[in-house]
Amino acid sequence: MSIRENVAHVMDGIARAAERSGRHPAAVTLVAVSKTFGPETIREAVAAGVRIFGENRLQEALDKMAVLDSDLTWHLVGHLQRNKAAKAVSSFHMIESIDSDRLLREVDKRAGQQARVMPVLFEVNVAGERSKTGMPVGELADLVMLAGELMHVSLRGLMVVPPYSADPEAGRPYFQEIVRLRDEMTALGVPGVDLRHLSMGMSNDFEVAIEEGATIVRVGTALFGGRR
Ligand SMILES: *Cc1c(COP(=O)(O)O)cnc(C)c1O
Repeated sequence: MSIRENVAHVMDGIARAAERSGRHPAAVTLVAVSKTFGPETIREAVAAGVRIFGENRLQEALDKMAVLDSDLTWHLVGHLQRNKAAKAVSSFHMIESIDSDRLLREVDKRAGQQARVMPVLFEVNVAGERSKTGMPVGELADLVMLAGELMHVSLRGLMVVPPYSADPEAGRPYFQEIVRLRDEMTALGVPGVDLRHLSMGMSNDFEVAIEEGATIVRVGTALFGGRR
């Protein structure tokens, strides 16, 4: 299948799942996770109408941004080291993978130096997996309150990567849990914090995630094929 066909297929799946969840398809944003794929492949996706790309490594992303249209939108979806926060702030439109107090403060500081406000999501390790990135659920409330105090980050929601499973239904309880956490955090009523976004769902389970309320889905393999 061509990338154009893959994009059409994924957009179709997004539209149907959005309808099942009683929402307009436009309420769900597709982030095409282009990690490991080169600029030529990304250009094919752009030609098929994709505008937002997700990358998990900073330098790899910068190399692609340098040669691609400057009007594309980029989300960082992988772990960010604090010493790379300045570069991430200057090159990405959203950092979905804030996972600690120290990283949040560093992003705020660097965004301040660049006179901008950085849109961020908090990545939550809902399953409590040791091997995984993402903040422990127990730290979420403190970090939400901290985000409310910082002037140069704008917390827009939560992101989750559930434990891998080939079964699309396996992610559903984790998606439901992140919705519950979002509601709990919203109830804190922290000024300046609007947790409208839930970034959840990948190639194998994005339809389930949308049924549960995803507003952002991060899809790689279903668009670009398998990664080496
Ligand atoms: C690689 C990656 C994806 C995309 O995964 P696919 O299964 O290829 O769709 C989504 N989110 C994150 C954080 C990733 O690292």
